[in-house]
Amino acid sequence: MIKVVKFGGSSLASAEQFAKAGDIVRSDEDRKYVVPSAPGKRNDKDSKVTDMLYDCYRAASRQEDIRISFNRIKERYNTIINGLGLKLSLEEEYKKIEKNLKDQIGEDYAASRGEYLNGKIMAAYLGFEFIDAAEVIFFDEKGHFLSDKTNKVLKKRLHSAEKAVIPGFYGSLPDGTIKTFSRGGSDITGSIVAKAAEAGMYENWTDVSGCMVADPRIIKNPKPIRVVTYRELRELSYMGASVLHEDAIFPVRKAGIPINIRNTNCPEAPGTLIVESTCHVPEYTITGIAGKKGFVAVNIDKDMMNSEVGFCRKALQAFEDNRISIEHMPSGIDTMTVFVQQEEFMGKEQQILSELHKLCKPDTLDLEGDLALIAVVGRGMREARGTAGRLFSALAHANINVKMIDQGSSELNIIIGVRNGDFENAIRAIYDIFVETRL
Ligand code: ASP
Repeated sequence: MIKVVKFGGSSLASAEQFAKAGDIVRSDEDRKYVVPSAPGKRNDKDSKVTDMLYDCYRAASRQEDIRISFNRIKERYNTIINGLGLKLSLEEEYKKIEKNLKDQIGEDYAASRGEYLNGKIMAAYLGFEFIDAAEVIFFDEKGHFLSDKTNKVLKKRLHSAEKAVIPGFYGSLPDGTIKTFSRGGSDITGSIVAKAAEAGMYENWTDVSGCMVADPRIIKNPKPIRVVTYRELRELSYMGASVLHEDAIFPVRKAGIPINIRNTNCPEAPGTLIVESTCHVPEYTITGIAGKKGFVAVNIDKDMMNSEVGFCRKALQAFEDNRISIEHMPSGIDTMTVFVQQEEFMGKEQQILSELHKLCKPDTLDLEGDLALIAVVGRGMREARGTAGRLFSALAHANINVKMIDQGSSELNIIIGVRNGDFENAIRAIYDIFVETRL
Protein backbone atom coordinates (compact mmCIF):
# COMPACT_ATOMS: atom_id res chain seq x y z
CA MET A 1 0.00 0.00 0.00
CA ILE A 2 1.14 3.54 -0.70
CA LYS A 3 0.67 6.11 2.05
CA VAL A 4 0.90 9.84 1.49
CA VAL A 5 1.87 11.71 4.62
CA LYS A 6 1.32 15.40 5.14
CA PHE A 7 2.89 17.19 8.08
CA GLY A 8 1.44 20.45 9.37
CA GLY A 9 3.46 23.48 10.43
CA SER A 10 3.64 22.65 14.13
CA SER A 11 4.96 19.18 13.23
CA LEU A 12 7.88 20.81 11.42
CA ALA A 13 8.48 23.92 13.51
CA SER A 14 11.90 22.87 14.86
CA ALA A 15 14.62 20.27 14.41
CA GLU A 16 13.11 18.29 17.26
CA GLN A 17 9.72 18.19 15.55
CA PHE A 18 11.35 17.37 12.21
CA ALA A 19 13.06 14.40 13.82
CA LYS A 20 9.71 13.10 15.08
CA ALA A 21 8.29 13.44 11.57
CA GLY A 22 11.35 11.66 10.16
CA ASP A 23 10.90 8.76 12.60
CA ILE A 24 7.27 8.46 11.59
CA VAL A 25 8.11 8.28 7.88
CA ARG A 26 10.96 5.83 8.39
CA SER A 27 8.93 3.52 10.62
CA ASP A 28 6.67 2.49 7.74
CA GLU A 29 7.97 1.57 4.27
CA ASP A 30 4.56 2.40 2.80
CA ARG A 31 5.03 6.08 3.62
CA LYS A 32 6.43 6.96 0.22
CA TYR A 33 5.32 10.51 -0.48
CA VAL A 34 5.69 13.33 2.01
CA VAL A 35 3.98 16.72 1.83
CA PRO A 36 5.41 19.28 4.27
CA SER A 37 3.95 22.61 5.39
CA ALA A 38 6.16 25.55 6.27
CA PRO A 39 7.56 25.72 9.83
CA GLY A 40 4.79 26.77 12.20
CA LYS A 41 4.91 28.23 15.70
CA ARG A 42 7.25 26.70 18.28
CA ASN A 43 5.34 28.35 21.10
CA ASP A 44 2.49 30.83 21.60
CA LYS A 45 4.69 33.87 21.05
CA ASP A 46 6.38 32.53 17.94
CA SER A 47 5.45 33.35 14.31
CA LYS A 48 4.64 31.05 11.43
CA VAL A 49 7.23 31.29 8.66
CA THR A 50 4.39 31.83 6.14
CA ASP A 51 3.34 34.96 8.03
CA MET A 52 6.95 36.14 8.23
CA LEU A 53 7.25 35.77 4.45
CA TYR A 54 4.06 37.74 3.83
CA ASP A 55 5.34 40.48 6.14
CA CYS A 56 8.69 40.55 4.40
CA TYR A 57 7.08 40.83 0.99
CA ARG A 58 4.84 43.68 2.11
CA ALA A 59 7.74 45.48 3.73
CA ALA A 60 9.67 45.21 0.45
CA SER A 61 6.69 46.65 -1.41
CA ARG A 62 6.93 49.70 0.86
CA GLN A 63 10.61 49.94 -0.13
CA GLU A 64 11.66 49.05 3.42
CA ASP A 65 14.91 47.29 4.16
CA ILE A 66 14.06 43.59 4.58
CA ARG A 67 17.51 42.36 5.55
CA ILE A 68 16.73 41.89 9.24
CA SER A 69 13.36 40.27 8.74
CA PHE A 70 14.66 38.00 5.98
CA ASN A 71 17.58 36.99 8.19
CA ARG A 72 15.09 35.84 10.80
CA ILE A 73 13.51 33.54 8.25
CA LYS A 74 16.92 32.18 7.23
CA GLU A 75 17.67 31.62 10.90
CA ARG A 76 14.56 29.48 11.32
CA TYR A 77 15.70 27.17 8.53
CA ASN A 78 19.37 27.14 9.47
CA THR A 79 18.49 26.20 13.05
CA ILE A 80 16.52 23.23 11.74
CA ILE A 81 19.29 22.18 9.35
CA ASN A 82 21.95 22.40 12.07
CA GLY A 83 19.74 20.76 14.67
CA LEU A 84 19.28 17.79 12.36
CA GLY A 85 23.04 17.66 11.66
CA LEU A 86 22.48 17.95 7.92
CA LYS A 87 25.18 18.92 5.46
CA LEU A 88 22.87 21.08 3.44
CA SER A 89 23.31 24.68 2.47
CA LEU A 90 20.36 26.73 1.30
CA GLU A 91 22.45 29.90 0.83
CA GLU A 92 21.94 30.02 -2.95
CA GLU A 93 18.19 29.55 -2.48
CA TYR A 94 18.06 32.32 0.13
CA LYS A 95 19.87 34.72 -2.18
CA LYS A 96 17.48 34.03 -5.00
CA ILE A 97 14.41 34.36 -2.78
CA GLU A 98 15.59 37.61 -1.17
CA LYS A 99 16.19 39.10 -4.61
CA ASN A 100 12.77 37.97 -5.82
CA LEU A 101 11.11 39.47 -2.75
CA LYS A 102 12.82 42.78 -3.48
CA ASP A 103 11.83 42.51 -7.15
CA GLN A 104 8.23 41.92 -6.00
CA ILE A 105 7.58 38.93 -8.24
CA GLY A 106 4.42 38.00 -6.36
CA GLU A 107 2.93 37.60 -2.90
CA ASP A 108 2.00 33.98 -3.54
CA TYR A 109 5.56 33.27 -4.59
CA ALA A 110 6.78 34.78 -1.32
CA ALA A 111 4.38 32.74 0.82
CA SER A 112 5.14 29.51 -1.04
CA ARG A 113 8.84 29.63 -0.21
CA GLY A 114 8.04 28.49 3.32
CA GLU A 115 6.93 25.10 2.03
CA TYR A 116 9.55 25.05 -0.73
CA LEU A 117 12.49 25.40 1.67
CA ASN A 118 11.01 23.01 4.18
CA GLY A 119 10.57 20.51 1.35
CA LYS A 120 14.25 20.84 0.48
CA ILE A 121 15.22 20.11 4.07
CA MET A 122 12.79 17.22 4.41
CA ALA A 123 14.03 15.62 1.17
CA ALA A 124 17.66 15.89 2.32
CA TYR A 125 16.80 14.56 5.77
CA LEU A 126 14.90 11.54 4.49
CA GLY A 127 17.07 10.93 1.42
CA PHE A 128 13.94 11.25 -0.77
CA GLU A 129 13.68 12.93 -4.15
CA PHE A 130 12.45 16.56 -4.15
CA ILE A 131 9.62 17.36 -6.57
CA ASP A 132 8.84 21.06 -6.92
CA ALA A 133 5.06 21.49 -6.63
CA ALA A 134 5.24 24.21 -9.33
CA GLU A 135 6.05 21.48 -11.87
CA VAL A 136 3.18 19.17 -10.99
CA ILE A 137 0.30 21.23 -9.57
CA PHE A 138 -1.50 23.56 -11.97
CA PHE A 139 -3.95 26.43 -11.96
CA ASP A 140 -5.61 28.16 -14.92
CA GLU A 141 -5.06 31.86 -15.69
CA LYS A 142 -7.93 32.77 -13.38
CA GLY A 143 -6.31 30.88 -10.54
CA HIS A 144 -8.69 27.90 -10.51
CA PHE A 145 -7.11 24.59 -9.69
CA LEU A 146 -6.79 22.29 -12.73
CA SER A 147 -7.48 18.87 -11.33
CA ASP A 148 -7.30 16.72 -14.50
CA LYS A 149 -4.07 18.20 -15.81
CA THR A 150 -2.51 18.03 -12.36
CA ASN A 151 -3.53 14.44 -11.86
CA LYS A 152 -2.12 13.37 -15.22
CA VAL A 153 1.24 15.09 -14.84
CA LEU A 154 1.65 14.30 -11.15
CA LYS A 155 0.77 10.64 -11.59
CA LYS A 156 3.43 10.26 -14.28
CA ARG A 157 6.01 12.11 -12.20
CA LEU A 158 5.32 10.01 -9.11
CA HIS A 159 5.72 6.84 -11.15
CA SER A 160 9.32 7.80 -11.76
CA ALA A 161 10.03 8.61 -8.10
CA GLU A 162 9.95 5.76 -5.66
CA LYS A 163 10.00 8.08 -2.65
CA ALA A 164 9.57 11.82 -2.82
CA VAL A 165 8.86 15.05 -1.00
CA ILE A 166 6.37 17.43 -2.61
CA PRO A 167 6.00 20.78 -0.78
CA GLY A 168 2.44 21.75 0.11
CA PHE A 169 0.36 24.88 -0.47
CA TYR A 170 1.34 25.94 -4.02
CA GLY A 171 1.47 25.18 -7.71
CA SER A 172 1.84 27.29 -10.83
CA LEU A 173 -0.21 29.35 -13.28
CA PRO A 174 0.04 28.76 -17.06
CA ASP A 175 2.81 31.37 -17.33
CA GLY A 176 4.84 29.64 -14.63
CA THR A 177 4.07 32.18 -11.88
CA ILE A 178 3.60 30.66 -8.45
CA LYS A 179 0.04 30.45 -7.11
CA THR A 180 -0.96 29.25 -3.66
CA PHE A 181 -4.14 27.67 -2.35
CA SER A 182 -5.89 29.52 0.47
CA ARG A 183 -4.33 29.44 3.94
CA GLY A 184 -3.92 25.96 5.37
CA GLY A 185 -3.75 24.68 1.79
CA SER A 186 -1.02 22.08 2.31
CA ASP A 187 -3.87 19.79 3.33
CA ILE A 188 -5.18 20.13 -0.22
CA THR A 189 -1.79 19.30 -1.74
CA GLY A 190 -1.64 16.15 0.39
CA SER A 191 -5.01 15.10 -0.89
CA ILE A 192 -4.07 15.79 -4.53
CA VAL A 193 -0.86 13.79 -4.16
CA ALA A 194 -2.75 10.90 -2.52
CA LYS A 195 -5.13 10.80 -5.45
CA ALA A 196 -2.37 10.88 -8.08
CA ALA A 197 -0.35 8.24 -6.22
CA GLU A 198 -3.48 6.06 -5.97
CA ALA A 199 -2.63 5.81 -2.30
CA GLY A 200 -4.41 3.48 0.08
CA MET A 201 -4.24 6.08 2.83
CA TYR A 202 -3.73 9.81 3.22
CA GLU A 203 -2.20 10.49 6.62
CA ASN A 204 -2.50 14.03 7.86
CA TRP A 205 -0.13 14.58 10.80
CA THR A 206 -0.89 17.48 13.08
CA ASP A 207 -0.70 18.39 16.77
CA VAL A 208 -3.95 16.84 17.99
CA SER A 209 -4.98 13.21 18.09
CA GLY A 210 -7.73 13.68 15.53
CA CYS A 211 -11.23 15.06 15.83
CA MET A 212 -12.95 15.21 19.19
CA VAL A 213 -16.60 14.54 19.94
CA ALA A 214 -16.94 18.14 21.17
CA ASP A 215 -14.88 21.32 21.34
CA PRO A 216 -12.17 20.93 24.03
CA ARG A 217 -12.65 24.58 24.99
CA ILE A 218 -16.13 23.64 26.21
CA ILE A 219 -15.72 19.99 27.27
CA LYS A 220 -12.62 19.08 29.22
CA ASN A 221 -10.76 16.18 27.58
CA PRO A 222 -13.49 15.20 25.17
CA LYS A 223 -13.42 11.69 23.72
CA PRO A 224 -11.76 11.30 20.33
CA ILE A 225 -13.74 10.32 17.26
CA ARG A 226 -12.24 7.10 15.88
CA VAL A 227 -14.13 6.91 12.59
CA VAL A 228 -16.14 9.62 10.88
CA THR A 229 -17.69 9.67 7.43
CA TYR A 230 -17.03 12.49 4.98
CA ARG A 231 -20.66 13.56 5.26
CA GLU A 232 -20.56 13.67 9.04
CA LEU A 233 -17.35 15.64 8.92
CA ARG A 234 -18.90 18.15 6.50
CA GLU A 235 -21.77 18.70 8.92
CA LEU A 236 -19.39 19.14 11.82
CA SER A 237 -16.94 21.42 10.05
CA TYR A 238 -19.70 23.58 8.66
CA MET A 239 -20.62 24.17 12.27
CA GLY A 240 -17.13 25.23 13.17
CA ALA A 241 -15.19 22.07 14.03
CA SER A 242 -12.02 22.29 11.98
CA VAL A 243 -9.21 19.80 11.63
CA LEU A 244 -8.69 19.90 7.92
CA HIS A 245 -8.92 22.45 5.11
CA GLU A 246 -12.43 22.02 3.68
CA ASP A 247 -11.23 21.57 0.11
CA ALA A 248 -8.89 18.77 1.11
CA ILE A 249 -11.73 16.31 1.22
CA PHE A 250 -12.79 16.36 -2.42
CA PRO A 251 -9.82 14.82 -4.30
CA VAL A 252 -9.52 11.81 -1.98
CA ARG A 253 -13.22 11.40 -1.42
CA LYS A 254 -13.81 10.92 -5.14
CA ALA A 255 -11.00 8.39 -5.26
CA GLY A 256 -12.25 6.51 -2.18
CA ILE A 257 -9.04 7.11 -0.21
CA PRO A 258 -9.48 7.38 3.58
CA ILE A 259 -7.83 10.18 5.54
CA ASN A 260 -6.21 9.45 8.86
CA ILE A 261 -5.69 12.45 11.14
CA ARG A 262 -2.72 11.67 13.40
CA ASN A 263 -0.71 13.38 16.11
CA THR A 264 3.03 13.84 15.47
CA ASN A 265 3.56 14.24 19.23
CA CYS A 266 1.70 11.04 20.01
CA PRO A 267 2.21 8.70 17.05
CA GLU A 268 0.87 5.69 18.93
CA ALA A 269 -2.64 7.19 19.07
CA PRO A 270 -4.78 5.85 16.21
CA GLY A 271 -6.26 9.29 15.50
CA THR A 272 -9.40 9.78 13.44
CA LEU A 273 -10.16 7.91 10.26
CA ILE A 274 -12.29 9.79 7.73
CA VAL A 275 -14.02 7.45 5.30
CA GLU A 276 -16.67 7.42 2.60
CA SER A 277 -18.82 4.90 4.43
CA THR A 278 -18.30 2.36 7.16
CA CYS A 279 -19.97 -0.43 9.02
CA HIS A 280 -17.86 0.47 12.06
CA VAL A 281 -20.46 0.89 14.77
CA PRO A 282 -19.90 4.21 16.48
CA GLU A 283 -19.06 4.00 20.15
CA TYR A 284 -21.82 6.43 21.02
CA THR A 285 -25.14 7.20 19.36
CA ILE A 286 -23.70 10.49 18.23
CA THR A 287 -20.43 11.04 16.40
CA GLY A 288 -19.90 14.66 17.29
CA ILE A 289 -21.37 17.95 18.44
CA ALA A 290 -20.46 21.32 16.96
CA GLY A 291 -22.04 24.70 16.87
CA LYS A 292 -21.82 28.41 16.27
CA LYS A 293 -23.14 31.49 17.97
CA GLY A 294 -24.48 34.66 16.43
CA PHE A 295 -27.61 33.92 14.44
CA VAL A 296 -30.87 35.77 13.91
CA ALA A 297 -34.22 34.06 13.35
CA VAL A 298 -36.51 35.93 10.99
CA ASN A 299 -40.04 34.67 11.67
CA ILE A 300 -42.55 35.15 8.91
CA ASP A 301 -46.21 34.40 9.70
CA LYS A 302 -49.12 34.40 7.29
CA ASP A 303 -52.40 32.58 7.37
CA MET A 304 -52.75 30.00 4.60
CA MET A 305 -49.09 30.39 3.72
CA ASN A 306 -48.88 26.73 2.80
CA SER A 307 -51.37 27.02 -0.02
CA GLU A 308 -49.89 30.16 -1.53
CA VAL A 309 -47.86 29.05 -4.52
CA GLY A 310 -44.42 30.68 -4.65
CA PHE A 311 -44.49 32.05 -1.10
CA CYS A 312 -41.14 30.56 -0.07
CA ARG A 313 -39.48 31.71 -3.26
CA LYS A 314 -40.62 35.27 -2.69
CA ALA A 315 -39.44 35.24 0.91
CA LEU A 316 -36.06 33.87 -0.04
CA GLN A 317 -35.71 36.41 -2.82
CA ALA A 318 -35.56 39.18 -0.23
CA PHE A 319 -32.48 37.52 1.24
CA GLU A 320 -30.92 36.68 -2.09
CA ASP A 321 -31.33 40.22 -3.42
CA ASN A 322 -29.41 41.44 -0.39
CA ARG A 323 -26.78 38.73 -0.78
CA ILE A 324 -27.48 37.12 2.56
CA SER A 325 -26.95 33.38 2.75
CA ILE A 326 -29.43 31.28 4.65
CA GLU A 327 -28.33 28.79 7.28
CA HIS A 328 -31.56 26.99 8.14
CA MET A 329 -35.20 27.23 7.38
CA PRO A 330 -37.58 25.34 9.63
CA SER A 331 -41.22 25.89 8.78
CA GLY A 332 -44.73 25.30 10.06
CA ILE A 333 -48.07 25.37 8.35
CA ASP A 334 -48.49 29.14 8.56
CA THR A 335 -44.97 30.17 9.51
CA MET A 336 -41.50 29.98 8.19
CA THR A 337 -38.34 30.93 9.99
CA VAL A 338 -35.16 31.87 8.27
CA PHE A 339 -31.89 31.64 10.19
CA VAL A 340 -29.13 33.96 9.04
CA GLN A 341 -25.83 35.13 10.46
CA GLN A 342 -26.35 38.14 12.67
CA GLU A 343 -23.20 39.94 11.60
CA GLU A 344 -24.09 39.77 7.91
CA PHE A 345 -27.75 40.53 8.49
CA MET A 346 -27.52 43.50 10.80
CA GLY A 347 -26.45 46.13 8.29
CA LYS A 348 -29.24 45.17 5.88
CA GLU A 349 -31.95 44.41 8.42
CA GLN A 350 -34.52 47.10 7.60
CA GLN A 351 -34.00 46.75 3.88
CA ILE A 352 -34.74 43.03 4.06
CA LEU A 353 -37.78 43.50 6.27
CA SER A 354 -39.31 46.05 3.95
CA GLU A 355 -38.68 43.79 0.96
CA LEU A 356 -40.29 40.89 2.79
CA HIS A 357 -43.32 43.06 3.41
CA LYS A 358 -43.50 44.04 -0.22
CA LEU A 359 -42.95 40.57 -1.64
CA CYS A 360 -44.81 38.33 0.83
CA LYS A 361 -47.36 40.54 2.55
CA PRO A 362 -47.00 38.63 5.81
CA ASP A 363 -49.38 38.95 8.78
CA THR A 364 -46.47 39.40 11.14
CA LEU A 365 -42.73 39.59 10.85
CA ASP A 366 -40.50 39.39 13.86
CA LEU A 367 -36.87 38.97 14.64
CA GLU A 368 -35.02 37.16 17.36
CA GLY A 369 -31.30 37.72 17.62
CA ASP A 370 -28.41 36.33 19.69
CA LEU A 371 -29.17 32.73 18.92
CA ALA A 372 -26.78 29.82 18.60
CA LEU A 373 -27.10 26.74 16.43
CA ILE A 374 -25.85 23.36 17.57
CA ALA A 375 -25.51 20.36 15.27
CA VAL A 376 -25.69 16.93 16.83
CA VAL A 377 -24.26 14.67 14.16
CA GLY A 378 -24.16 10.91 13.92
CA ARG A 379 -24.67 8.18 11.37
CA GLY A 380 -25.76 6.00 14.30
CA MET A 381 -28.85 8.10 14.95
CA ARG A 382 -30.77 6.51 12.10
CA GLU A 383 -30.68 3.15 13.83
CA ALA A 384 -31.20 4.37 17.37
CA ARG A 385 -34.66 4.91 18.76
CA GLY A 386 -35.40 7.87 20.97
CA THR A 387 -32.32 9.95 20.18
CA ALA A 388 -34.36 13.12 19.91
CA GLY A 389 -36.26 12.25 23.09
CA ARG A 390 -33.06 11.89 25.09
CA LEU A 391 -31.57 14.98 23.56
CA PHE A 392 -34.49 17.21 24.46
CA SER A 393 -35.02 15.80 27.90
CA ALA A 394 -31.33 16.42 28.64
CA LEU A 395 -31.74 20.01 27.53
CA ALA A 396 -34.91 20.42 29.57
CA HIS A 397 -33.14 19.07 32.66
CA ALA A 398 -30.39 21.60 32.10
CA ASN A 399 -33.05 24.31 31.98
CA ILE A 400 -32.36 25.18 28.39
CA ASN A 401 -35.09 26.54 26.21
CA VAL A 402 -34.91 25.08 22.70
CA LYS A 403 -35.90 27.74 20.18
CA MET A 404 -35.69 25.67 17.03
CA ILE A 405 -35.38 22.07 15.93
CA ASP A 406 -34.44 20.87 12.48
CA GLN A 407 -33.73 17.26 11.63
CA GLY A 408 -32.38 16.67 8.14
CA SER A 409 -34.14 13.93 6.18
CA SER A 410 -30.91 11.95 6.09
CA GLU A 411 -31.23 11.57 9.88
CA LEU A 412 -27.55 12.33 10.03
CA ASN A 413 -27.99 15.38 12.20
CA ILE A 414 -30.33 17.27 14.44
CA ILE A 415 -29.87 21.02 14.53
CA ILE A 416 -31.15 22.91 17.51
CA GLY A 417 -31.30 26.61 18.14
CA VAL A 418 -30.74 28.00 21.65
CA ARG A 419 -29.92 31.39 23.09
CA ASN A 420 -26.24 32.39 22.74
CA GLY A 421 -25.99 32.41 26.53
CA ASP A 422 -27.12 28.76 26.71
CA PHE A 423 -24.69 27.56 24.06
CA GLU A 424 -21.98 26.05 26.26
CA ASN A 425 -24.41 24.52 28.74
CA ALA A 426 -26.42 22.96 25.96
CA ILE A 427 -23.29 21.33 24.52
CA ARG A 428 -22.34 20.06 27.96
CA ALA A 429 -25.80 18.60 28.52
CA ILE A 430 -25.76 16.83 25.14
CA TYR A 431 -22.24 15.51 25.67
CA ASP A 432 -23.17 14.26 29.11
CA ILE A 433 -26.20 12.33 28.05
CA PHE A 434 -24.71 10.67 24.96
CA VAL A 435 -21.07 10.26 25.87
CA GLU A 436 -20.61 10.34 29.63
CA THR A 437 -23.72 8.38 30.53
CA ARG A 438 -23.85 6.65 27.13
CA LEU A 439 -27.58 6.62 27.01
N1 ASP B 1 1.85 27.42 5.39
C1 ASP B 1 0.56 27.70 4.88
C2 ASP B 1 -0.26 28.45 5.92
O1 ASP B 1 0.25 28.81 6.96
C3 ASP B 1 -0.13 26.50 4.36
C4 ASP B 1 -0.31 25.39 5.36
O2 ASP B 1 0.30 25.37 6.41
O3 ASP B 1 -1.08 24.48 5.06
O4 ASP B 1 -1.41 28.71 5.69
